[in-house]
Amino acid sequence: MSGSQSSLREANRTLIVETIKQYGGLTQVELVGATGLSPATVSTIVKELLGAGVVDTQTTTRSGRRAQMVTLARQVGLAAGIQIGHRHLRIALGDFAHDVVAEQTLPLPHEHRADTSLDRAVLLLVGMLERVGASLDEVVGVGVALPAPVDTATGMISVRGVMRGWDDVHVGTVLAKRIARPVYVDNDANLGALAEVTLGVGREHRDLVYVRASYGTGAGIVINGQVHRGIAGTAGEIGHVQVEPQGDICRCGSRGCLDTVVGAPALLDPLRASHGTLALRDVVQRANAGDPGCSRVVADAGAAIGRVVAGLGMAINPQCVVVGGELAETGGTLIDPLRAAVLRGVLPNEIAPLTVVPSALGARAEVLGAVELVLRSTEVPVRLDEPGAAPPGARAAG
Ligand SMILES: [Zn+2]
Repeated sequence: MSGSQSSLREANRTLIVETIKQYGGLTQVELVGATGLSPATVSTIVKELLGAGVVDTQTTTRSGRRAQMVTLARQVGLAAGIQIGHRHLRIALGDFAHDVVAEQTLPLPHEHRADTSLDRAVLLLVGMLERVGASLDEVVGVGVALPAPVDTATGMISVRGVMRGWDDVHVGTVLAKRIARPVYVDNDANLGALAEVTLGVGREHRDLVYVRASYGTGAGIVINGQVHRGIAGTAGEIGHVQVEPQGDICRCGSRGCLDTVVGAPALLDPLRASHGTLALRDVVQRANAGDPGCSRVVADAGAAIGRVVAGLGMAINPQCVVVGGELAETGGTLIDPLRAAVLRGVLPNEIAPLTVVPSALGARAEVLGAVELVLRSTEVPVRLDEPGAAPPGARAAG
């Protein structure tokens, strides 16, 4: 084969592998459609990749006919996603077919610290790998979702005070040192947005805003299919948009931020006299059980968040606002007033009216986004004709 033919073949292989990676799995006919390559080229390359252990095929049906579904093989590697929340840790292990092979959550104490929480995360991850019969070597990378703005270049929180006990911690470096795998750190709402646009309700959209209403409030912005982070990772930090100029001082040092009005302490304080000391989880449960006081607090939060999201909607003009986070588990109690406030605040248009919908992925959005971040950041080796080009994680024969 001449050099140019060989590089063309390699480019076609890369195109096919990247296309399978993007969709998780496609039939050969769909691969022809998605890549624009000829059926013969797709068939030859899929056979080669199958022989090299890069892809797997399974029989499936399309329009009532049998077809071969092509997915990236498990031996290409696993991606780990770690979501560190205010009160819990969630880990998912996913493969390149976009299947989650293991998932687990662990409660974390109030105001937990970086060192102990990262230790717990590593122990949990190693245990999960053991249970699925995999080793750390097979993990192509670890994605971490943090409830704070993150400078993705360094993996550090870019605004001090937002996450106590985590300031000045080089999360990416600390974790990479512990597990010797590539680590990618991002803001949780950004990763929720990435998951929704890849796997969730945003799959049909190029521009969307994902709102995470939880202990604090944040938003992830997707523009033209890509997460927009801004220069310091603070894009979409709606929790720190000032809504009350004379309001309380926020963790970030500013006054009257949205989080001082709808963050967990601001929701729980007004319930103390009537309901006693509740956790955010109790408020969600009681609102779902019809408790008027808890429902009122959540609904008012929805309206306050919606007014800020309307501003974001005007700035970005997305097709869709997806609402996730713990408070979204109250369904219409949060989302109806949030939607009403958004629609009242954006310019109505006939071309593409803005929709406001609940997250399809629920509490899993952020951790699935962390897995997706790793998959997107990892290049699958496709140079099959060279010796020693086995995919990462492939076990040596014998
Ligand atoms: Zn603030």
